[in-house]
Amino acid sequence: MAYKSYADIIIDISHENLDKTYQYAVPDNLASSAVIGAPVVVPFGKGSRTIKGYIVGLSNEPKIEVEKIKPINSVIKGAPVIESHLIRLAYWIKENYGGTINDALKTVMPVKKAVRIKEHRQLTLVMHRSEAERIYEEQLKKNNRARARILKALLDEQAIDYDMAVKSLNMNTGVLAWLTDNGIVKTESRQIYRNPINNQGTAKNRVELNAEQQAIVDEILKDYYEGKRRTYLIHGITGSGKTEIYMDIISKVVSDGKQVIVLIPEIALTYQTVNRFYERFGDRVSILNSRMSDGERYDQSLRAKRGEIDIMIGPRSALFTPFKNLGLIIIDEEHEGSYKNETTPKYHAVEVAVKRAELTGSFVILGSATPSLESFSKCASGDYKLFTLAKRAKDANPPKVWIVDLREELKQKNRSIFSRKLKSLIEEKLSRNEQIMLFINRRGYSGFVNCRSCGHVMKCRHCDISLTYHADGRLLCHYCGYEEPMPKLCPSCGSKYIAAFGTGTQKVEEIARREFPGARILRMDTDTTRNKGGHQRILSAFARHEADILVGTQMIVKGHDFPLVSLVGIIAADLSLYAGDFRAGERTFQLLSQAAGRAGRDAIPGEVVIQTYHPGHYSILAAATGNYEEFYEQEMLYRRLMQYPPVAHILLVLVTSKDEEKSENAVKYAAGIIKEYIDGNKLASQVIGPAPAELSRIKDVYRRVIYIKDNNYDILVGIKNHLEDCFGNTGQFSGCNLQFDFNPMGTY
Ligand code: ADP
Ligand code: ZN
Ligand code: ZN
Repeated sequence: MAYKSYADIIIDISHENLDKTYQYAVPDNLASSAVIGAPVVVPFGKGSRTIKGYIVGLSNEPKIEVEKIKPINSVIKGAPVIESHLIRLAYWIKENYGGTINDALKTVMPVKKAVRIKEHRQLTLVMHRSEAERIYEEQLKKNNRARARILKALLDEQAIDYDMAVKSLNMNTGVLAWLTDNGIVKTESRQIYRNPINNQGTAKNRVELNAEQQAIVDEILKDYYEGKRRTYLIHGITGSGKTEIYMDIISKVVSDGKQVIVLIPEIALTYQTVNRFYERFGDRVSILNSRMSDGERYDQSLRAKRGEIDIMIGPRSALFTPFKNLGLIIIDEEHEGSYKNETTPKYHAVEVAVKRAELTGSFVILGSATPSLESFSKCASGDYKLFTLAKRAKDANPPKVWIVDLREELKQKNRSIFSRKLKSLIEEKLSRNEQIMLFINRRGYSGFVNCRSCGHVMKCRHCDISLTYHADGRLLCHYCGYEEPMPKLCPSCGSKYIAAFGTGTQKVEEIARREFPGARILRMDTDTTRNKGGHQRILSAFARHEADILVGTQMIVKGHDFPLVSLVGIIAADLSLYAGDFRAGERTFQLLSQAAGRAGRDAIPGEVVIQTYHPGHYSILAAATGNYEEFYEQEMLYRRLMQYPPVAHILLVLVTSKDEEKSENAVKYAAGIIKEYIDGNKLASQVIGPAPAELSRIKDVYRRVIYIKDNNYDILVGIKNHLEDCFGNTGQFSGCNLQFDFNPMGTY
């Protein structure tokens, strides 16, 4: 029997051997619903069991004998159809980052299951804050504890979960009635971050852009109206008014009938930030975040698809919001590591955004105070257009930065983790009742080795990357596998003060309690924020001045403004400087710049103390003076010298297995194939490794890595494809997993 139409279908199973399309016939009764992107049920395999798949192509020509082509059973009703440009994007993602097409389709699709949204009731504060604060004080005085407790929670969170209020805060019907009758709260089904007071959007508080901001808006919109589509990078310090620029451009794009995606790192997705968008755009804004259930996220996707909203704000995954007529993608804090996906396909949101914009005729705006080297170098090459905002929009003086040389401290017999300068400044701020943040960088805690007398750091002679200390007394390079024994004396100055470096938040807290006995100290790290909302609770407590000192990891340097913080102490700036990967200098610069930006945001002038063994290191100097260009030039010299990204590209091949020997054999096999391929095609690619990964074993899974460098990304894609083929064709390594990461950012 002949059919009029045939569909290419991807079977919904992630398996290398099934990573191709299968042709099925489209019965006439399904012709109208069997469109590209539609989910279908088809018979598959010998027993023709039914299985789910997606249509990714349609044609009138059978590819094989018609008799052998099976018809589609049905088109799944009610499930979302993937936009055809998102299917093309999925193919591009698969090709450029590795993994199966199924993995890629899952990435671009709204959450697979249509989970029914559970009704969550919440109490939202609808009374003006100052009035609510007054009532709170009043209830405290009257000792109405239940009422005060709920009011306090509302003042902290703006909206609280109804069930939580009943269960944890012991809210009874009497208290609820009192809250409602007095116009303090409203009960409604939960819409996280929906501004309850101001749903329609108002012109109130709209700022007048300054000349620099307006010039940027004008230039970008001029391109837009002339039909030019490109990528822009706005390099502007925190508070320089980037968000105001985004909002002005968004309003024009939206009034043109198009939609906008705004990516913000999860940690910066605070009530304050999102609320600014609600105030301006009202109900046409929606958000995604990781605390939402699958059902809630799915629902937001559907709203976008149906055209009920114009603006989607969210972290990385919001990039795939299925808007019909996308006009603009904004990526704020584009340098953030969280824009890189950690699971296969390991895509980078900035690259995918640029691709999606290309496929849809939209454009991209990136913003950052400390742009990634990748993006900044694309401005230098003319791929992106650069704009710079040098001043804060609201006048505030830049903080005063002190760099303390820890080698000097040792010479002066000060063995404390607090330098004399930091100690005296902490005492001074405490006596003035101001607040202090102490920042410890946990990255690289895994232990590079340095000399406390001269600052010398043990590095790999081949990779110029810090060696990592292992408990058995060896120093190991996690790029190339080079190792040497731990020296007893510093090879540079002969001192015996050479050791693995490491200070944890807990230890800093302990010592701070000892050295500043009267001070109230809060600690924020992965331990203290494990519970839901722990993060927000600590920050809110600190904001209310319930503590004088906040000790923490990078979590504390992002988001929130604390007007009373007049001192930021960076305990060990070097911790991230020698974090055993080539981005260490860049990350250090970003973290120090961010940390420095925390001090003195308001009326009180701020001071920053950076403690380091390398006071002359360009990452530290440039962060102290806020000179991005200086940092960029220096760091690019290093990247050029070592052929690290963005100068060249790196493909990381990760082989994992529960069986150590198997992982060893598989990685050797992979290295052999790679070398053969490179030689056979007369390529100039450089192979480093194989070596045990820095995290050489996780949960009893052994991990081996190979790095391949080349100036040409496509050559690395070719190597990846070849490896995937070879691994797919040999049954030898069942139980081994092969993963790829292009220009990796995380720890392996
Ligand atoms: P960024 O996104 O670069 O951190 P924001 O856009 O958040 O900067 O601006 C920082 C603060 O300055 C905000 O409170 C914002 O409302 C305010 N602001 C921005 N531009 C102006 C302006 N032209 N006039 C007055 N205030 C402004
Ligand atoms: Zn030394
Ligand atoms: Zn090495």
